[in-house]
Amino acid sequence: MINIPKGTKDVLPVDSYKWQYVEGVARETAKLFNLKEIRTPVFEHTELFQRSVGDTTDVVTKEMYTFKDKGDRSITLKPEGTAGVARSFIENSMANGVLPAKMYYIIPAFRYERPQAGRLREFHQFGVEIFGAKGAQTDAETIMLADSLLKNLGLKVKLYINSIGCPTCRAAFNKGLKEFFAPKLDNLCYDCKTRFEKNPLRLLDCKEEECKKINADAPSILDYLCEDCREHFEALKSYLTSAGIEYEINPRIVRGLDYYTRTVFEFVSTSIGAQGTVCGGGRYDGLIEELGGGSVPAVGFAAGIERLLMVMEQSGVEIPAPAVPTVYIAGMDADCRKKAFELAAALRQKGVFVEIDHMERSVKAQFKYADKLGAKYVAVIGGNELAEGKANVKQMATGESENVAFENFAEYFLGK
Ligand code: ATP
Ligand code: MG
Repeated sequence: MINIPKGTKDVLPVDSYKWQYVEGVARETAKLFNLKEIRTPVFEHTELFQRSVGDTTDVVTKEMYTFKDKGDRSITLKPEGTAGVARSFIENSMANGVLPAKMYYIIPAFRYERPQAGRLREFHQFGVEIFGAKGAQTDAETIMLADSLLKNLGLKVKLYINSIGCPTCRAAFNKGLKEFFAPKLDNLCYDCKTRFEKNPLRLLDCKEEECKKINADAPSILDYLCEDCREHFEALKSYLTSAGIEYEINPRIVRGLDYYTRTVFEFVSTSIGAQGTVCGGGRYDGLIEELGGGSVPAVGFAAGIERLLMVMEQSGVEIPAPAVPTVYIAGMDADCRKKAFELAAALRQKGVFVEIDHMERSVKAQFKYADKLGAKYVAVIGGNELAEGKANVKQMATGESENVAFENFAEYFLGK
C-alpha cells in the first residue's frame, strides 16, 4: 500500500465542490477588476526563484523542491506564483503591450515545510499581479480586490499594512537594524546570525520565539522612509479610506519574500489564531528589472486556498451545495433499464442532469439511492409503463406523482 506523500492532500469528489466554489468566486472577483488568467509551468529554472524570492529567504534556503532533470538542469517546483508570472511578463514582452497588465492565477505551490493545519507541502494559491502602474491607487485597488474576495467568501478578516520602503530608505533602515541587533547577536538563532550579515530586514521575519521577543523593540521601518516612500504610503492610506476599507498599520510586517518594495499587506482571519494569515502581498517595483526586464513597477498578492477553506469552515460559512440530478430514471427489469438508458441519453443531450442505475438494483433500492443523491424527481418504469410508453414520475419534495409519456420527457424535465 503506497500512501500519499507527507504534507499533501487529496481533494475527494465529495469535497471538490467547495474548491470549485472558492475558485469560482475568485475568478468572478478577478473579472470585476478586469484581470485575465495567466497559466505558467509548475516548474521553472531554480535560478528564477533564487533571483526573485531571494537567496536569504526561508523559502529559497530551506523549503524548495529542487532537483536535476535528465538534462542536468536545476529545476524547482514553484514555491509561489509571482516569479513565474514575472518571467513570463518579460519573456513575452508584455511591457510593450497594453499597460497596466492585470492578471490572476490559480496554482499549486510547493514548500518543504513542517506540515500542520493550514500549512502543507503542496498547497494552492489564488494570486493577482498588476504590472506597469506605479501609483498608490493601484496598491489600493489590489488590496480592494483581496478585500472583495474575502468578503464575497463570507470571511471576517483584518487588514494590516506597512511600507518597507525602497532600496534608498532600506539601506538606512538596514543600518539602523544592524546597530540595534549587533549587541544582541549572541541571543539570536543560528539563521538570524546569517540574516544579520546578509539581509538584516529578514531578522524581523524570524519565527523563533526568542528572536520574536527581541524583534519587538527593533526600530520601525516607518521612521526611515524617504520622502517619496512616505508620500506613497500616505496616498495608499487615503485611497483605502476613500474605498471604505479599514486597516491597521503594522510596522512588523516585512513579508517572507525579498522582492517587495514600499507597500506590503496581510489579511488575517479574526476567527482563528494559528495560520490565520489567509492572504499576503505588496508592491515589487524592482523585480522585473532584477530579472532582466525593463524598469516596470508592479503590485500583487496571493491567497492560500486551503487557508481560505479552513477559515470558512471554522467560521461556519455555508458553501452552496453542489447540483443534484433533476431526475433519476429507475427501471424494474433489464428491458426497463434499457429504456431508462435510452431516455437518459436523450435527456442529457438536452442538458438535463439525469442519473440511472448502474448496479442492477431493485426498484426499491434505486429509489433509496435516488433519494440519497437528492434527485428532484424519480421516474419509474415497470413492465406496464414500458408497454404503454410512459413512466410514473414522482416529485420527491411533495410526494406527488403523475404519468409522463416517454416522448414528453425532455419537455417535462427541461428547466425543472
Ligand atoms: P506564512 O507566514 O503563513 O508562512 P507566507 O508569508 O509564507 O505565509 P506567502 O508566501 O505570502 O505566505 O503566500 C501567500 C499565502 O499562501 C499565505 O498567506 C497563506 O495563505 C498561503 N500559504 C503560504 N504557505 C503555505 C503553506 N505551506 N500551506 C498552505 N498555505 C500556505
Ligand atoms: Mg511561510
